[in-house]
Amino acid sequence: MNNALQEYHKKRKAGEIPPPIRRNPTQRSQDNPSSLRKAINALCYECVGSNSDSNWMARIKFCQILNCSLHKVRPYSKGITNKECLAYKEV
Ligand code: SF4
Repeated sequence: MNNALQEYHKKRKAGEIPPPIRRNPTQRSQDNPSSLRKAINALCYECVGSNSDSNWMARIKFCQILNCSLHKVRPYSKGITNKECLAYKEV
């Protein structure tokens, strides 16, 4: 690990640097309302129930609504086939 990263982790542990603020896809879309990518990400996020559980990313990734207009452009889906989507079972 390089020195700058070690220094960062040391400061994070000591509380000198606050933890990063994670914004959800809806908030990111609101930050940049003219971005189609962020709008699609936000729509998929809201479609699967937002953060009603921590598994929302996998539910978008393996979305089983194959006839949705956004299915081929949904986030987190790179390399995922329709067959894998249909085979996905939530735990
Ligand atoms: S691709 Fe799936 S998660 Fe995204 S909007 Fe369509 S049905 Fe919802």
